[in-house]
Amino acid sequence: MLRVVVLGAAAGGGVPQWNCGCPVCREARNNPALQSTQASIAISADGDHWFLVNASPDLRQQLIATPQLHPEGGKLRHSPIAGVILTNGEVDAVAGLLSMREGWPFTIYAHPKVLSILNANSIFNVLNAKNVRRQPIEQDQAFEPALPDGVPSGIEIVPFAVPGKSAWYLEGKAHPGGDSEAGDTLGLRIRDKASGRHFYFLAACAGITDDLRARLAGAPLVFFDGTVWRDDELIAAGLGAKTGQAMGHIAMSGDSGAIESLAGIEIGRKIFLHINNSNPALLPASPERKIVERAGWQIPADGTEITL
Ligand SMILES: [Zn+2]
Repeated sequence: MLRVVVLGAAAGGGVPQWNCGCPVCREARNNPALQSTQASIAISADGDHWFLVNASPDLRQQLIATPQLHPEGGKLRHSPIAGVILTNGEVDAVAGLLSMREGWPFTIYAHPKVLSILNANSIFNVLNAKNVRRQPIEQDQAFEPALPDGVPSGIEIVPFAVPGKSAWYLEGKAHPGGDSEAGDTLGLRIRDKASGRHFYFLAACAGITDDLRARLAGAPLVFFDGTVWRDDELIAAGLGAKTGQAMGHIAMSGDSGAIESLAGIEIGRKIFLHINNSNPALLPASPERKIVERAGWQIPADGTEITL
């Protein structure tokens, strides 16, 4: 059995974003049901030990809100979190690591390209190397994250390349991990070894290839990049100068958007994740939300737990 908890469903900045006055953010400030923390999920095969997929800047708030991740009763120092798997080096995927610096042993699993970012930024040395191992993972090579005592977790993860971009703050700068395109954006296939049940996690994806369509066909569950509704959304709203594509994110709508590109492919449950506050599909009464739901997609509330 695989348990999955959506810790946060929002893109960078969350909903509402601190300095944003867009319609979604304005409404979310007065409506807690619309508020969402930055994208991350927690997974467990045994219900006792958990792994985070990405560590968002909202991690502290997410852990308070998630009883499954609280320390075990009666122990002075404890966390059910055994590791963190990073799919990219964006601020919204790695900054939460800085909230995990109180001496609990866990392992960070990431592509060497992303590990190079952690290694190049000395602030991440607050994670004492004696307690917190940094384990490289490679595309198309399955790995099984381990519990703190080295016992296999029962979860098999296959990272694979998806179209994407380097972290935004590295744009136009030398990447500490070199020029190779590989490794900046990973999708994950996550499988419970005992039951064979699996799902896919893609918090960032700039386009859907035939290879990706074939990969996702037949999956019981897919979490997919839902950053923007339309590619020029930030520009049209006067919020920014970048398209979704320029940020490495496919749009939900349009002929080459996620909804259309994945229509007709058999997927048990389709959930958007990493949804930007500018995205009108966040508003339950919006026409965009109706289109999302009619196409069989869901927008999850933080804290949603799914059992596979
Ligand atoms: Zn906003």
